[in-house]
Amino acid sequence: MIAKEKLTKIVGAGDVIVDQAVLDGYAKDISFVNSVKPACVVKPKDAAEVQKIIKLANETLTPLVPVSSGPPHFRGDTVPGIGGAIIVDMSGMNKIINVDRARRVAMVEPGVTFGELIPAAAKEGIRLNLPLLPRKTKTVIGSLLEREPVVMPKYQWDISDPLACVEVIFGSGDEFKTGQAAGPGTVAEQWKVGGVQKAPYGPGVASWHRLIQGAQGTMGIVTWASMRCELMPALEEPFVVGSANLGTLVEMASWLVRLRIANECFILNNTNLAAIFAKKWPKDYEKLKNSLPAWTLFYVLAGYEFFPEERVGAYVKEITQMTQRLGVEALKAVGGVSANEIMKAVQQPCAEPYWKLRYKGASQDVFYLTINDKLEGQIAAMNEAAEKAGYATSDMGVYIQPIVQGTGVHCEFNLFYDPANAGEAGRVKDLYAAAVKGLMAKGAFFSRPYGENTGLIMNRDAASIAVLNKLKKMFDPNRVMNPGKVGF
Ligand SMILES: Cc1cc2nc3c(=O)[nH]c(=O)nc-3n(C[C@H](O)[C@H](O)[C@H](O)COP(=O)(O)OP(=O)(O)OC[C@H]3O[C@@H](n4cnc5c(N)ncnc54)[C@H](O)[C@@H]3O)c2cc1C
Repeated sequence: MIAKEKLTKIVGAGDVIVDQAVLDGYAKDISFVNSVKPACVVKPKDAAEVQKIIKLANETLTPLVPVSSGPPHFRGDTVPGIGGAIIVDMSGMNKIINVDRARRVAMVEPGVTFGELIPAAAKEGIRLNLPLLPRKTKTVIGSLLEREPVVMPKYQWDISDPLACVEVIFGSGDEFKTGQAAGPGTVAEQWKVGGVQKAPYGPGVASWHRLIQGAQGTMGIVTWASMRCELMPALEEPFVVGSANLGTLVEMASWLVRLRIANECFILNNTNLAAIFAKKWPKDYEKLKNSLPAWTLFYVLAGYEFFPEERVGAYVKEITQMTQRLGVEALKAVGGVSANEIMKAVQQPCAEPYWKLRYKGASQDVFYLTINDKLEGQIAAMNEAAEKAGYATSDMGVYIQPIVQGTGVHCEFNLFYDPANAGEAGRVKDLYAAAVKGLMAKGAFFSRPYGENTGLIMNRDAASIAVLNKLKKMFDPNRVMNPGKVGF
């Protein structure tokens, strides 16, 4: 364990926190992982301080848990896996370093939230490819590193997008820059000659950003990241298509993305749409849910600087042929929710309270990657598992997000439950484990394993675990970085 005086020497007395109430706040989250209290919280102000903390952790074999976003946390990845850990709270490093419209790229420190970066980018005429309604306290880097799916699959060329480059201090204490940022020259020198930190690949033939992304802080601590941004449209036309038949909407979404027509494009079931847009609880929620079709496809058509009306008009014409063929209708509202309202909502972080907490106070999310053809079988398997566990399928939110140009799909079940009701919480915990097993048997790929089901997921692939352990040995030889997560 690092002596408190040594930490104080690095960051100053005010940024080493041992207050029990504060430590309790980091000891647990909304997930079902065991509660473990950290020894202290330290708040570095720059990369040099982060590096000193990691070096000291190596000398004393002290576990470090990096955290950027504020509470509530949902997935157990920022709760210490073992005792004696130090929380490295990065929220104080919150500078927006660069927003560049010409190159459509932004660079931020770990503490910057979506609520801070969205207006700064808008001022320059660009915007982020956002995850669906991130909570107010969620940081941009936290989301990028977790490979959260984004709502505009048209602008996603690779599963790692929109993450571009990062600066990271590995668990070994070595500082490293990925992609274009690696060089030649420092970042400042690159700027001076008109360089940009946008291409994520390299240095060399390896894509080092992939080592850090999805690692849940087990490889190192990121001190800044850059990301691809998109131009702000001049004209936007949102639409909704409701149906009782998910297959029809999945087919339509896949064409909208494949033909690169739609910007935002995703499907929600009635539970999730009502959970997001109900105004008064619980009366409004039930009423709204009953007014909605089982499934709603939402998409936005956009035009830019040149001929925006003509562009959107051509898209509408093409889509009319599509909807006629599929026997559905593109509308401006579905039940009690308008397409405009959805568009406005999903271009910002979520208004308080966070939508996943509104219905019952907590949500356990089950999410994975799959392909369209497997989706309906998996949803049937999930419904079956829910019924077996005594969880009402009508309480289960579903979010279907086409990803990477429609080559795949992120499927997410939101199991809303009342955390104060031990019986209900227990049922959801059991259902979570049963669902992961059942869904894997139906071809679900859990690319982001969190919490107590990590072992179940990781143990399916011994070859990958062997490679990951080799990499862990190179980049975090003393295993100080977030022990207990992702199978480490
Ligand atoms: C996993 C992945 C990795 C990628 N990596 C890269 C990369 O490294 N570098 C890179 O540059 N790109 C990359 N791409 C982008 C890829 O090249 C784009 O998907 C491509 O630009 C779109 O072409 P398409 O064949 O997918 O679609 P297409 O079906 O060819 O459609 C493209 C557009 O052209 C229109 N169109 C198609 N046919 C015609 C026609 N006959 N007449 C008129 N209009 C037509 C369509 O309506 C659509 O708007 C990647 C994509 C994926 C999915």
